[in-house]
Parts: sequence; structure tokens; C-alpha cells
Amino acid sequence: MQPAPITVLDTLRRPLRDLRVSVTDRCNFRCGYCMPKEAFGPDHAFLARPDVLQFDEIERIVRAAVSMGVRKVRLTGGEPLVRRDLDALVRALAAIDGIDDLSLTTNGSLLATKARALADAGLHRLTVSLDALDDPTFMRMNDVGFPVQRVLDGIAAAEAAGLGPVKVNSVIRRGVNEHAVTDLAGHFRGTGSTVRFIEYMDVGTTNGWRLDEVVPAAEVVAAIHARWPLEAVGSDYRGEVARRYRYLDGAGEIGVISSVSEPFCGDCTRARLSADGQLFTCLFAGSGHDLRGLLRDGATDADLTDALRIIWTGRDDRYSELRALETLDRPRVEMSFIGG
Ligand code: SAM
Repeated sequence: MQPAPITVLDTLRRPLRDLRVSVTDRCNFRCGYCMPKEAFGPDHAFLARPDVLQFDEIERIVRAAVSMGVRKVRLTGGEPLVRRDLDALVRALAAIDGIDDLSLTTNGSLLATKARALADAGLHRLTVSLDALDDPTFMRMNDVGFPVQRVLDGIAAAEAAGLGPVKVNSVIRRGVNEHAVTDLAGHFRGTGSTVRFIEYMDVGTTNGWRLDEVVPAAEVVAAIHARWPLEAVGSDYRGEVARRYRYLDGAGEIGVISSVSEPFCGDCTRARLSADGQLFTCLFAGSGHDLRGLLRDGATDADLTDALRIIWTGRDDRYSELRALETLDRPRVEMSFIGG
């Protein structure tokens, strides 16, 4: 039984509530906006296995984070389902008292075979990324020729395993997949699944980001509203990333994540753990805090909790708001933060 959590606030009085855990830096897709082939080709130096956190190390860090108030844990990557035996990690995390929401973000490619084991291990819910419903667009975007139907089969398998309704994440790029906005909204309306449209963000120097390829969330909402009228829904909790809209005809909801056109920092309660054990306190942070080194130097659980408290109480990040003030300078984001 986990002791009652203490609430630790950062310098802007924000608590730590959500932890994104990247279980691998590898992915089997090469989406141009995230891990383009030019930057993540055969010569790319992915982490060597000993450098990646082991499951027991992740579990210790998550326990420490939960003791400081984390309530939501999301597994992500890279592509989390390429990590072998991921269900064993899910099982260990599901046993931690105090986690209200244990979820996973995946490209869905391996879900058809893995959904059952994840559900049996105690995963609460899933987000599947899907950027288009037509093969030409989707294959061009994942850049490995992966067909849409296999992702839809993965979603169906997840729902059959009791992990439904899944959320769907879609990154919309001008001139690439704007047509997918109404395709995806139309397909998932009435199914219980919420599609969340994410503004295309800069990920540093690797994805050739251009502001004119960003489709602002307001435009996405307007396109759907013109077809199926929508109304705004209030947020469920402090720090909710997506803005939500419901169909007036009762066919469910969509969400938009407007991190470029309307950056949000004031309510940010998230931290991210990278596959090699760096803790980042902001999605735009250029460097993290080395928890792997601490663990492997023999830190006790109390040492780990102390380290987390010191890191979080010193946190003053509000990167995207400051950048927005500098008139559309380019935000840089570590994508495993998105997931949601
Ligand atoms: N591989 C998994 C997946 O595809 O969902 C998990 C990791 S992926 C980095 C997490 C989410 O970040 C996905 O929904 C992906 O679409 C989103 N993402 C990646 N690069 C992005 C970018 N440049 N702008 C906006 N969202 C992005």
C-alpha cells in the first residue's frame, strides 16, 4: 500500500499530476512530422539496450512520482508496443495504488496481437494515432507503407478486449491531410471514440516544420461544425490538454490540441520521463534531469522522492507562453508529451 501522496507545487503553484513515460526511443513508423526517414534512417544511433530504463527502474520512478501526487500515467515512445513484454510493465504499474488513469498511446500497428495482453495486465485505456482514413495519404504520412485497415483492426481488437472506446489522435498538416478532418470525424462520430486533432508542432530541427503547414484548431472546429454542428464543452479537470466540443445531435465529441495557436502553460501539470531516464518538466525543455544515473548509483526510494521534490519545486517552465510573446518563434517539442 502506497502512503498518502504529498502535494508538491512548482514555483507557479502547479502540482505534478501527469507523467508520460517513454518506454523506447524506437518506432516502426517514419512519420515526416515526428521521426522522418532523413533524420531517423539506418544510420541513426538509437539508444543501446543498457541505456534504456528497465521495467523495475520505471516502476520505482513511477511509485516515487505517485507519492508526490501523480494520478495519470501514460506509456508512450517511440512506439511503445515495439518494447518487448510491455504488458509486464503495465501489470506492475497497474498494481500501484493511487494511479487513477493508466493509459498508452500507440500507432496501433501492433495492437491487433497485443491488445488482449495489455487489457489483461490492467491497462485502463488507449489512444491510437491515425492521421487519415485513405491509404494513399496514410501511407505517405507513416512513410513505411502501413495500411489504414490494420490500424482499424487494432482499434477493433482493443475494443473487443475491453479497452474501448479508444481515443484517436490526428496530426493535421496543411496540404497533406486536411481532408482527413471530416473523414475522421465522420468515421468516428457515434462510435464512442473521440478524435483529437493536434496542431502540427515543431520537434526541433528534424521535421522541417513550417508555420504555414499548421492548421489552426479553430479551422478544424469550423470545418467539422459546418458539417455536423458542435458546441464547446467545459474542461473536465485542471491541466486538460484538449479543448472539447460535442456534436449537437448527440453523436459524441471531438477535441483539439492547439499548442501552436494557443499555447497553454498555466495549468500544465505534466512531466515526462524519457526512455533513458531523463525527467523533463516541460515539453519544450531542452534538457532533463538524470534519474537513471541516480538509480544506478544506488539511490534509495527516499532519495528518489527527494530528488523529484527538488526538481518539481524548482520548476518555472512556461516556455510556450513566453515563446508566443516573441511573436511566433518556433516552439520545439518532445512528442512523447503529446500522446494524450
Ligand atoms: N508512437 C506512438 C503514437 O504514434 O501514438 C506514441 C508516440 S507519438 C510521438 C505520440 C503522439 O505525438 C502521436 O499522436 C503523434 O501523432 C504526436 N506527434 C508526433 N509528432 C508531432 C508533431 N510534430 N506535431 C504534433 N503532434 C505530433
